[in-house]
Amino acid sequence: MAPPRTYRCEAITLSYTPLGEADLLVTMYTRDQGKVRAVGKGARRSTSRLVGHLEPLTVVRMSMAHGRSMDIISQAEVLESFATLKEDLTGITKGLYLAELVDGFGSEASANPSLFQLIVDTLRAVEADPASDMPLRFFEFHLLQVSGLMPELYHCVECRQELEPHAHRFSPNVGGTLCLDCNPDDAHLRPLSLRALKVLRLLDRSSIAEACKLSIDESLAEELKGLLFTTVAYWLGKEIRSNSFLERLRKESRSEVYIEGL
Ligand SMILES: [Zn+2]
Repeated sequence: MAPPRTYRCEAITLSYTPLGEADLLVTMYTRDQGKVRAVGKGARRSTSRLVGHLEPLTVVRMSMAHGRSMDIISQAEVLESFATLKEDLTGITKGLYLAELVDGFGSEASANPSLFQLIVDTLRAVEADPASDMPLRFFEFHLLQVSGLMPELYHCVECRQELEPHAHRFSPNVGGTLCLDCNPDDAHLRPLSLRALKVLRLLDRSSIAEACKLSIDESLAEELKGLLFTTVAYWLGKEIRSNSFLERLRKESRSEVYIEGL
């Protein structure tokens, strides 16, 4: 019998679940093969060489063997552990939100190196400043872009007129921005301020480092969050579980600020 074919890949681990007595079923996003689910044999044993290498949000170089139904992780070398991010509750919660979105948008056996690079770059930005939400907005916007779902920001999606510099409306359902003259029957239609449109255009042409330097007030931040989160959730078509914990953390940190300010 021919030996099983092995391969090496660079991946970011997204999640894992226990499998059998001592194994782990790991979901990861690889640079060159898209989403992969693979088994870490004996990875829950304290003596395993894989211990600590497969926890979510770790960039790992893997040696894999093709198994009968699922690939087997034979070796793992940590390239980037995001140890500082994982020590911060907000940081790790944001990281798991990114991981859930990559799991939802990434497909198996379909490579998207831009998506791999996007989550790694965004995790670095979250690690550098866990309190800032701008890395998440940059990620949501570019997640749509690298998934071929980039919202239209320059022309009305209905009449194709170039958008004048004032307030418009936005709908994920029809693919982006609408002028005020077009009134399609669309339950997802929402107002879009000129400020928010400008930030979306800026996200389109900025690097994550440039986007993170942007300082915006709370009402604009809320508008962008609502708009981008709704669009991502619309395309994902299911509940984003990690977001409810993220929202709870936000509310708690706000009430702490309130108590401190008494
Ligand atoms: Zn129009």
